[in-house]
Amino acid sequence: MAFTRNPSDGEPKIYGEYLLNAQGEDVVAGIRTPHSLDKLKQDMPEAYQQFIDTCRTLEKHYMDMQDIEFTIEKNKLYMLQTRNGKRTASAAMRIAVDMVHEEVISKTQALQRVEPAQLEQLMHWRIDPAAKMNYIARGLPASPGAASGKVVFDADKAQEMAQKGEKVLLVRPETTPDDIHGIVAAEGILTSRGGMTSHAAVVARGMGKPCVCGCDDLRIDLGRGFFYVDEKKYPEGEILSIDGTTGQVILGEAPLIEPQFTDQFYELLGWADDIRRLKVRANADTPGDARRAVELGAQGIGLCRTEHMFMAAERIPVVQEMILSADLEKREAALEKLLPMQQEDFKGILKEMSGFPVTIRLLDPPLHEFLPDREELLLEVDRLQREGGDSDLLQEKETILQKVQSLSEYNPMLGHRGCRLGLVYPEIYRMQVRAIFLAAFELLDEGIAPEQLQPEVMIPLVGHREEMDRMKKLVEETIEELFKENNRELPYLVGTMIELPRACLVADQLAQSASFFSFGTNDLTQTTLGYSRDDSEGKFLPFYIQQKVLKTNPFAEIDLEGVGRLVEIAIEKGRSTRPELKIGICGEHGGDPVSINFFNEAGLDYVSCSPYRVPIARLSAARAVLL
Ligand code: PEP
Ligand code: MG
Repeated sequence: MAFTRNPSDGEPKIYGEYLLNAQGEDVVAGIRTPHSLDKLKQDMPEAYQQFIDTCRTLEKHYMDMQDIEFTIEKNKLYMLQTRNGKRTASAAMRIAVDMVHEEVISKTQALQRVEPAQLEQLMHWRIDPAAKMNYIARGLPASPGAASGKVVFDADKAQEMAQKGEKVLLVRPETTPDDIHGIVAAEGILTSRGGMTSHAAVVARGMGKPCVCGCDDLRIDLGRGFFYVDEKKYPEGEILSIDGTTGQVILGEAPLIEPQFTDQFYELLGWADDIRRLKVRANADTPGDARRAVELGAQGIGLCRTEHMFMAAERIPVVQEMILSADLEKREAALEKLLPMQQEDFKGILKEMSGFPVTIRLLDPPLHEFLPDREELLLEVDRLQREGGDSDLLQEKETILQKVQSLSEYNPMLGHRGCRLGLVYPEIYRMQVRAIFLAAFELLDEGIAPEQLQPEVMIPLVGHREEMDRMKKLVEETIEELFKENNRELPYLVGTMIELPRACLVADQLAQSASFFSFGTNDLTQTTLGYSRDDSEGKFLPFYIQQKVLKTNPFAEIDLEGVGRLVEIAIEKGRSTRPELKIGICGEHGGDPVSINFFNEAGLDYVSCSPYRVPIARLSAARAVLL
């Protein structure tokens, strides 16, 4: 038995075994220990040489690594069988690239030989496939890669333990922006609730950390410090491993294999760049993410979610002050405090991305997301009332509670968010726009040329022309004022997200004032299918998929007939008004290979995805051209 190249790492050397006085079955069955081919070279040098030459001929003929059975009878070589050999992801990459150098296959053939999923495997820590595992549960494969660590239920504790050099897994029912420091500290994240677009999933993907979410089998008793899987009880502190590529949860520490950013990896991606039509941008909200994105080949930022900047621990009090302000004057005073903070973030991001476009989305989530939890507040107010102590504190908590109650909504995802915030509180958007352009001016002062800075201001959740027209006017007036005040100018665009069915249907009207569209397919999927992006993947969707009501998860792979059709309508209508309209996608589908085929065909200009999916999108965009 032989492989013409090493099937586990792709080394271009014939790799095989043989037995004397035996049949192929005896080698496969493992009853006798076979000899290596080096011994054949000594025992039967002529037959060996003929075998090696024949392997080369077969490889050239089939233009691929071969899995061969042969025999030698009375010094005569017989080839019994040959077929293309199975191989690991790293072997697939190395063999494809080596064969181009050997002029056996073309670059486009090499691109077709490496699956995006294989590329993804190479970029992350993964579990040694040879190891035996004790699988105990399964959730959604929310962010690829594998990790092991002690189970910790609390973000502060995760941070503390990680600082002492311990490896931890943050295990929570779900995560919120308050848990960010714990996510940063942990090797990986495991949640019992939430889908592929939940907070944990999105944040973990952005950071390139493994995450399994919506793991229904897992029941966490935060109070008592235990978790249960199938009624079996485990203490916090137990060691678990997670595989974010498959969604598996494993008891104990799994042996891991390192990521492989090899020369072949970069070379293959270079060939992909030569033929792809779609540009690839990244979703990034920090200068660090932006830098990583550029290193992985991003050609700009397609979505900078500005709310993530509001959520940093030291900023939340100022954001809350802004939200709790009783009148416009007080709100503007709080916004003035936020301005330099946002300006600094934008400066860092624009600098990392100089020479590339940066799409910055104005505030999108409902304001109550920045306020404390309603139930916790109720309990605290109740406690303070009963104890009858600090009356100032009680009053302060009561005011916050009132505001939280007044902002609370039954359906916040369909509530006071997106441009609806900008319309009701224009001062918030005005501050954000000022922060973007003041940051750009600072960079001009540092010697960056105006055309190197390409901010694109994006309005979220637009559904009506009037919304877009008014928001554009607000943004443009703010910018023009700044240009005048500072005696400077730079190119910019104002555009909209397309994430509501209505926006698709009136895209011709929206394109009157929007210079670009970016499809927010997370919300567009939620609003087109009527499936909550926060709940459905943990509730009925697994059943739907298992029972084949749906073929795939529409939050991961675009629903072609519904959402895809709306995307086509929006593109056609948008470009009928404005032929040069720039169009991209920044929902999670921007990093999904099957969805990328569709976006290429539909005529989008770019896809945008989390930094760690940029290489996958580059390869997928090239393969889409070759379909
Ligand atoms: C979207 O809706 O697809 C999107 C990119 O915005 P967000 O996920 O922040 O709602
Ligand atoms: Mg959205």
